[in-house]
Amino acid sequence: MYAVIGAGMGGLASAIQLARSGREVTVFEATAQPGGLAGRVDLGGHAMDGGPYILLDRPGLEWSFEQLGETLADHIDLIPLDETWRVCWPNGQEVRVYRSLEQTAQELEYAYPGAAKRYIRYVEQMTKTYQRLAPFQRSRPPKPWQLLRPSRVAAVPFLLRPLGHHLAATGLAEKVQHALGIWTHIASQPLAKAPAPLAFVPAIVHSVGAFVARGGVHTIPEALHRIAEKAGVQFRFNTRVTRIDRSGDRVTHIVAGDEHIAVDGVVSNAPGIGTLTELVQPPDPALSRELKELPLQSPGVAVYMTGDAEPQVPFLRFMLRPDEPCRLFIRFDGVDETRPRQLRLLCPTDHTWAEAAGPEGQTQYLNTVINESWWRAGIDNVETLGTRIPVEWGRRHHLYRDSMNPVMTAKYMRRGRLPHSPSIATNLHLAGSATHPGQWVSFAAISGILAAAAITEDA
Ligand SMILES: Cc1cc2nc3c(=O)[nH]c(=O)nc-3n(C[C@H](O)[C@H](O)[C@H](O)COP(=O)(O)OP(=O)(O)OC[C@H]3O[C@@H](n4cnc5c(N)ncnc54)[C@H](O)[C@@H]3O)c2cc1C
Repeated sequence: MYAVIGAGMGGLASAIQLARSGREVTVFEATAQPGGLAGRVDLGGHAMDGGPYILLDRPGLEWSFEQLGETLADHIDLIPLDETWRVCWPNGQEVRVYRSLEQTAQELEYAYPGAAKRYIRYVEQMTKTYQRLAPFQRSRPPKPWQLLRPSRVAAVPFLLRPLGHHLAATGLAEKVQHALGIWTHIASQPLAKAPAPLAFVPAIVHSVGAFVARGGVHTIPEALHRIAEKAGVQFRFNTRVTRIDRSGDRVTHIVAGDEHIAVDGVVSNAPGIGTLTELVQPPDPALSRELKELPLQSPGVAVYMTGDAEPQVPFLRFMLRPDEPCRLFIRFDGVDETRPRQLRLLCPTDHTWAEAAGPEGQTQYLNTVINESWWRAGIDNVETLGTRIPVEWGRRHHLYRDSMNPVMTAKYMRRGRLPHSPSIATNLHLAGSATHPGQWVSFAAISGILAAAAITEDA
């Protein structure tokens, strides 16, 4: 029997692939439902997502479902976003990014004369580089010689430099650079440390588009759960695995509660670092030391609310203040009528800060954010249904040190990610965001498929 630990996006995708290859598969999930960080949050009669969940990788999700023998559109209704995001500053300045390149460029030109040409050139360059490198998103870590193909070699200098370098090279105003790199602010990373591929985001928005899943992102793992059951995967919810026993280079058993279960192999969708440093017994001391040094990404603080939003309130509104973490206010019903009155406030926290601050400091920060006035513009009758601080994310989702896995810095990306097949045991594999250079739900699904491929190809 193959044991899959965790029913997050990565675990579900792996389990389906292994079952489709004829293996007996059981998924052990510590919580009562599938989805992990992309799972459903039920509050005040509303089925909500944990985060904002803007989907920037429709091709990656389509590819994943295809690999699983399914068609994404049969399961998930993706709603394209017209205005994709808006970044605001306390002085009232704004930058808006639309699906339309022309509209985005035109508005930039109005506020920053000369910006349209620069922006269009940047998007064109990034679109070309993205097209060259996109296939790597769906393969195991590339070998250096794969990058040496003439069509790809031009992308090497691009990958060696951080996002901040590429944005600065545009010559666009600093505020515009920050607005374009906002997805690194929300991961609590400075532009100068963020990996180059984040520079693709505007190019993806203007070509592929950005989407939300009708009803919420949780509909995606829920669909995978149904597909997995149909494929014969067994699920054991509310069952936390506390140990993976290793004998030499093989894992032999897992421990769940007082059960000691023999396994042919394990795919762990539990946090990658935690799997290798805590779950596997005995661990490899040298590997553990190295992994414990990796910088981590905190899930930040979140406030789940309902309220009435005036029509002009956009889907995603970021607030950027100098020297402060950015904030994000999300209003769902403007883009998805199945989520009436749902609102969310989300703010990143630096992982080192959050650990030092502890629950008390984290709660103080949460309250500061709630009491700010900027997000209330155009919003009435607010009711808070729930809140989350990093320690709560950690407890609910069984995260490693309350983190969403290693934070993807430019340096870490150059060094490589955690491998799908770690050297510690030949029949232990990792699936999920720790093994992919990015923390999107599509990437976690792709990672699960690649982990299963490592098993079926080796057989
Ligand atoms: C606030 C927030 C906003 C986000 N926004 C976006 C977004 O806009 N777009 C996007 O694409 N992505 C977004 N993400 C990221 C995305 O949700 C995650 O990267 C992805 O869902 C991670 O999937 P995973 O497979 O790596 O594992 P996880 O979701 O971490 O799932 C792992 C599963 O394993 C279980 N588990 C752990 N340990 C054990 C154990 N010992 N025994 C049994 N079970 C165990 C957990 O309970 C969990 O169900 C966001 C995440 C957060 C937190």
